[in-house]
Amino acid sequence: MTGRSARGNNLDTVRQHNLSAVLGLVHRTGPLSRSQLTRETGLNRSTIAALVGELVELGLVLESEPGANNRVGRPSPVVGAHPGVVALAINPEIDAVTVGVVGLDGVVQHRVRYAAEIPTALEAVAISKAVIDGLRPQLKASSRVIGVGVAVPGLVREADGVVRLAPHLAWLDEPFAQQLHEAIGLPVSAANDANLGANAERIFGAGREVTDLVYLNGGASGIGAGVIVGGTPLAGFSGYAGEFGHTLVNSAGVRCHCGAIGCLETEVNQRSLLKVLGLDSADADELDRALAAAGAAGGSAGGAGSASGAVAAEIERQLGFLAVAVRNATNVFNPQLIVLGGFLGALITAAPGRLQELVSGTALKASGESLRIARAELGSRLLMVGAAELAFAPLLADPASGDVRVGGTVH
Ligand SMILES: [Zn+2]
Repeated sequence: MTGRSARGNNLDTVRQHNLSAVLGLVHRTGPLSRSQLTRETGLNRSTIAALVGELVELGLVLESEPGANNRVGRPSPVVGAHPGVVALAINPEIDAVTVGVVGLDGVVQHRVRYAAEIPTALEAVAISKAVIDGLRPQLKASSRVIGVGVAVPGLVREADGVVRLAPHLAWLDEPFAQQLHEAIGLPVSAANDANLGANAERIFGAGREVTDLVYLNGGASGIGAGVIVGGTPLAGFSGYAGEFGHTLVNSAGVRCHCGAIGCLETEVNQRSLLKVLGLDSADADELDRALAAAGAAGGSAGGAGSASGAVAAEIERQLGFLAVAVRNATNVFNPQLIVLGGFLGALITAAPGRLQELVSGTALKASGESLRIARAELGSRLLMVGAAELAFAPLLADPASGDVRVGGTVH
């Protein structure tokens, strides 16, 4: 960069900031007209025209005539994130490794769930590589792969993607991001699944326009959480913040694998819910159907005396302990919104209003009076979108950067 004037560098900084603002907007909100972009960014029309032109040239956005599904009465072309720019998303879990292809427009284009019983880190790498190899024909035809994001059910050192501890996978200090990078030759970033889920819900789901939220996700291997404070994900010193699954909700409870007694995830768990429903396994959608079929969908009180009494009692028991954790989160973080994902979302759908009632009765009035509790909206897309966001982050921050592997097609 020698020979560049300070003025030139400042202009570059402004340009980078503006490119990032426009690309980020269409990425988060979907296609927008130039006049909408002008309004949203506060930039003038000619600046927007130049920025859109540059993003088109970089192959990051598409400008097209609005179709029948776009807003009526807007004849100007709309600018949308290019769906051919994709990230790979990977989520190793205790029963499967899921690999997805997610477009810069937020659409999950492919999702492959490869069943595997508690995969080791090396097995998860091998499965990911095999699935990605299987997807190469589709990727080669139309896509430019930016990189890989991994959502890990455990503590991840975000700086280098080392999984410090994924207790249910029995992974300890696994350099997973590095191993995966060596296997597939793309940049890889990894982070805690719930932190990624919280961020995805804030950008694309129930938390849009919300600055302060606590996200709790119930998965097969436990409860993860992510906290967003003032619009910023709370990472903690090394990326381990937000472990609500291991906060105390029952001092007379059972011992958790972490060594403590009465953790949230030992009292509130999918296994007990499945057991009372007579199921071995279920994803969130299947769980909803099972709860509805058990007659629990009309509310816990209504189901208490029926054949689904055992299901209703289990829902009430789990909601009681969940309410303790939500009360603590409310008193500590004063969030606008609590977002519940996975089987926790199924729990609140099965007993509408009950969790809010339990929390309102116990949280500090001032902390809880503006609190809303909502179900996560992204469903089975959540961790794919969340992990992809991790991979897209460098591109979104600096769309014109040569460091970003745009055009790095999979060979
Ligand atoms: Zn614990």
